[in-house]
Amino acid sequence: MRTIDNNLSLREEHSLNAWQNNPVTNSLRNQGAAIHTAETSGAALQTFQAAGQSAGSAGASAAANAAAPGVGAAIQATEKAVEKIKDTIENIAASVPRSSSSWGALAALFLMPLLVIAVIAGAFRGGGSAKNVNLSADVIALMPQISAACQTHGIPEYAPLVAAVMMQESGGRVDDVGGDVMQCAEGMGLPVGTPVSVEESINFGTGIIARNLREAGAAGPTDIPAIGLALQGYNFGNGYISWALARGGYSKENAREFSEWQAGLHGWSGYGDIDYVDHVLRYYQVSVGSMGDASAIADGRFAYPLPGHAWDTYPGHNGIDISFPNCYGEPVYAVAAGTVRYTQDGWTPAHGVGGMWSFGNSVFIEHGDGWISAYGHLSALAVASGETVTQGQLIGYIGSTGNSTGPHLHLALYHNGDAGIGGQNFAELAWPQLSM
Ligand SMILES: [Zn+2]
Repeated sequence: MRTIDNNLSLREEHSLNAWQNNPVTNSLRNQGAAIHTAETSGAALQTFQAAGQSAGSAGASAAANAAAPGVGAAIQATEKAVEKIKDTIENIAASVPRSSSSWGALAALFLMPLLVIAVIAGAFRGGGSAKNVNLSADVIALMPQISAACQTHGIPEYAPLVAAVMMQESGGRVDDVGGDVMQCAEGMGLPVGTPVSVEESINFGTGIIARNLREAGAAGPTDIPAIGLALQGYNFGNGYISWALARGGYSKENAREFSEWQAGLHGWSGYGDIDYVDHVLRYYQVSVGSMGDASAIADGRFAYPLPGHAWDTYPGHNGIDISFPNCYGEPVYAVAAGTVRYTQDGWTPAHGVGGMWSFGNSVFIEHGDGWISAYGHLSALAVASGETVTQGQLIGYIGSTGNSTGPHLHLALYHNGDAGIGGQNFAELAWPQLSM
């Protein structure tokens, strides 16, 4: 895993360096240089005006907003001005699970025990996303071939669905099915149990899934009713699809009816698996709108690091700001167990990596399942990059470094590179104010 971490950080730095040469970033950096004297609230407004003059239009609007009274408003305006920088961080985070070289990271999961929780996620046209859960190491290792087959058959966005079918058909183990990971021998007109290569099986099985999805009228990877129909057709044969469409689509009831009818026709004791859809969807999770992703937060996996203290946020903000009297130097704790993925100790453009300087002294912790927590504007750090941390472990102290106009903690949660969904950021969804 060590080499993977290096790869990711190198790629992040490369992206950030590219961003650093962007004129918008440069103007924001100039703005930051002007702002950096403003650690106290009294100097904040003047500094903002100076920043606006030196930083062009982005800074000017920040200065205009900063004319509103109060440190809180000043903080908001500053952070709004650097939204572009934060977008970059999100894009970088988003690129990690989606880039081709991340297959190396997935392949490395081989080193882990057979059944690992893997997340292979993608965002899709029309909103929502689908991902895998509980894939075996064997299936994870075949993801590049699955993706290639999905490209070939015109369903690139359905790779997680094909992986889920493979989990069900193979039990997660290539050797146990003699390579026929999609259980295609019969469909290929061969006697059941005929050896079929992994490549042939993936290609044939993916072709069947593509055809079934078309026949079922699937609108996308979150169209579960049509996906259910296509999946049951994979198990029963695609004759089921037109039969079920004439009866309003897939239901477990009509799957049972079809199974009994076919068993009767053939004089068999049973026909197919009427629970096939449920069996496959154990490995496939769909998130549509805020509820899907928010439910992962609502599980309570993230602890609020400053109990008893309220937060503020505003539209377009990627996180929440926690500030209270004499908060400078107060300890900040990890919201959940994880690995420190990136730290920034020193916050001028010279010290920070690219646009990251706006976070000031900061800590980014990766928690698995695509979640990253970010803690910005710290006065000092208590952890180093690469360290593993437990939930509640001290990671730093509240400060006002970076693009900040007064002591506060900027706290954000990112999921697969997104800071929020449906106009709300994940941090405010994770810690509803009323529960404090
Ligand atoms: Zn903030």
